Amino acid sequence: MTKKERLFLSKHNIMSKVRDSEDYYIINLLSRNADIISNADANALNILDFSSLSDIDAYIEKGYLLHDLNDEDKEFKRAYIDFIHDRDQSETQIFFVPSYACNFSCSYCYQNGYQSIHRSLNNEIINLFFEYIERFDKKYITLFGGEPLLPSKENKTNIEYIIQKASEKNIGIAIVTNGYSILEYMDVIQKGIIREIQVTLDGPEAVHNKRRSLKDGGATFSKIVEGIDALLKVNIPVNLRVVVDKENINSLPELAEFAVRQGWTKNPLFKTQLGRNYELHFCQQHNNKLFDRLSLYEDLYQLIKKYPVIPQFHRPSYSISKFLFDNGELPEPLFDSCPACKTEWAFDYTGSIYSCTATVGKEDEKLGTFYPKVYLNTDLVEQWEDRDVLSIPDCKHCKLNLACGGGCGSAAKNKNGGLHTPDCRPIKELLEIGMKLYF
Ligand code: SF4
Ligand code: SF4
Repeated sequence: MTKKERLFLSKHNIMSKVRDSEDYYIINLLSRNADIISNADANALNILDFSSLSDIDAYIEKGYLLHDLNDEDKEFKRAYIDFIHDRDQSETQIFFVPSYACNFSCSYCYQNGYQSIHRSLNNEIINLFFEYIERFDKKYITLFGGEPLLPSKENKTNIEYIIQKASEKNIGIAIVTNGYSILEYMDVIQKGIIREIQVTLDGPEAVHNKRRSLKDGGATFSKIVEGIDALLKVNIPVNLRVVVDKENINSLPELAEFAVRQGWTKNPLFKTQLGRNYELHFCQQHNNKLFDRLSLYEDLYQLIKKYPVIPQFHRPSYSISKFLFDNGELPEPLFDSCPACKTEWAFDYTGSIYSCTATVGKEDEKLGTFYPKVYLNTDLVEQWEDRDVLSIPDCKHCKLNLACGGGCGSAAKNKNGGLHTPDCRPIKELLEIGMKLYF
């Protein structure tokens, strides 16, 4: 038998052309190797003419070519067991919604679709929430909304009580806020073990104010900026989120310049994230403004080429490209990208329990209650717990599965009608851009 006849392509090779280049990338998340290869080698792999590869031994050594596919299947199973083990050890992010109300009237807000429930948070409910979450070993709480830092006295008293209880129990707190009332809450925030405050700024002043005004139309930019400065001054980490769509993407360079001028980008406690404005919950009025996942990152790539200030402010991940560049190695294989009911849960002030932030507050997604009585629909919970690339038929044999992880369970359910269905990520295309940008 010739060498060529005995070799097989790994089922986990991801290969495509690097953007604006003649070269190709090849990545294998199971053997944890990545390389830039020539057009000729890529062609040889595509037509299975392995004997014409530039260095066939290197391809075998790196696990791109195999003598026996069974070995790879065994390795896959081992990696899966490791993944589940590591996930069982990791901490749980517990979202808590103190109310669904908000003082902003953002042009794109999905929460307009929620019914307001007439019950208000009190110490009894907070106590029962803390009692319930004792079952989670390593954990931290993320306050979420609506807007968790509403300016009312009653709300501030509740938030203070939650932060105080969390501190007593040595539980870290994160807060996802629109940022308008940070200054009024500084005294309370500083009493907590704060992991980070996530604040949204959608662009430079005029753009932000147009998109994220108060309910009465009032401007919010300057007050948010003061809040961010105040947090960084006392060494509280800030995660600045920009919700991006076609209306504001071109103002990103200006926002980046602003952040640089403020001194934020030099502060190690400051980080950023771009959120795609998308239809997870309720129909948006202006659908033509929305990006799909790939077109956002295509536009971003063009902007980054033109405005080098953007990467000072935000370096997009382009799937695993940024991780590879920053760490000099690939991440662990991702058998599941949806933490719902595994390392993420969501609770609200009415006493209800949900899988995550995508389902919280939706009556038909409720999994149980911690108040007035403790109840959990274990059948539904198991469905969430079981979701990973092995439980989703389309993902099981997908070449991209270990980079993609099957996507978001809630998005998949909304799109396809079932939880154990795929929410595909344009992994190949993102890597095409990312490999160009970072390598
Ligand atoms: S359902 Fe989607 S939003 Fe919720 S945890 Fe999973 S990936 Fe995240
Ligand atoms: S969600 Fe789509 S791209 Fe991701 S692993 Fe499943 S089939 Fe592949």
